[in-house]
Amino acid sequence: MTKKQNSYPPTNEEATILEYFRKSITQKSLYHSYLFVGADSRLLENLVQHISQSLLCLQGAGAPCQSCQACRKVKERIHPDVWISPSILENKPLNISEVRDVIGEASLKPWEGNYKVFFLPHAHRMANEASHALLKTLEEPPKHSIFLLTTETTNSILPTILSRCQVFQVGSLGNQETERILIEEDKLSPSEAAVISRLSEGNISLAREIHQELWEARPRLLEILCQEKDPLALGEALHQFCGNKKGRKSSKEKAKALLTHLSSLVRDILFIQSHVPAEKLINQDYLDSLQKVARLHSPKRIESFLDFLLEAQHMVDCNVTISLIWENVSMYLSSDTLR
Ligand SMILES: [Zn+2]
Repeated sequence: MTKKQNSYPPTNEEATILEYFRKSITQKSLYHSYLFVGADSRLLENLVQHISQSLLCLQGAGAPCQSCQACRKVKERIHPDVWISPSILENKPLNISEVRDVIGEASLKPWEGNYKVFFLPHAHRMANEASHALLKTLEEPPKHSIFLLTTETTNSILPTILSRCQVFQVGSLGNQETERILIEEDKLSPSEAAVISRLSEGNISLAREIHQELWEARPRLLEILCQEKDPLALGEALHQFCGNKKGRKSSKEKAKALLTHLSSLVRDILFIQSHVPAEKLINQDYLDSLQKVARLHSPKRIESFLDFLLEAQHMVDCNVTISLIWENVSMYLSSDTLR
């Protein structure tokens, strides 16, 4: 949805989501917060643009006419009732000062339309401080405000934020279909297929990558996360895995995959601490061990570890030497911060 980008016609899946919004708008049954999960950020931006148009179109039919002044303004990104995170052009997540802007803006009445729409991208990379500030607004949303969040993955999003949003998977086959393909075509066991499809959030190519590149490191990750002694072993194990020549991925890609998976384990621990039902967990096969870790640490500490893992993912993006990152992870785990 950058200014110069041409938008393309809705895909079938988009059409289904837009139809859902058409009904919700015309029946006045909208929620305040929606989260769109998908790997293709352009697809997500395009979808958010069409939903914003649906909400603000002057024809009032709950679908974008693409020709009224409101639809055009949304497309040009000059509609006063659409707040778009300034960080989006730099591919950055929302920061705390932007969240304060959102809160201030949301308290005002719409200028031209019936709603104030907030587009908040990269929710999976939002730091805890920003997430918590945003959460207060999501919990008690101003009457006219609609929050449209997008994310690559829900693995590192705070459970409290997730529980406030209606979640849509975009551009994926969905968990059940992915699970079926993994069992029937890739000959995985049903229990493996179930975890991998949840980890990949219904994205079959990502699921296959996880199986090829990450699967063997998984028990070791959990083992180290659970043990109380020798946390330095985690850094060591992570480092070894990334240096391993097996598989097609670079050590940077492997490091990111490992950190994402570690985040999913830590997020599950937070879910357990928040008494979320077990069927909502990604790593359900590790329930006993995760419950044990959940009892050992306070939610605040687990949350701060999740924040730290996000920071580590950011360091990988910024090309910080991988071994230095693992050293940091090890030091973090061996400090009193987590225990
Ligand atoms: Zn219109």
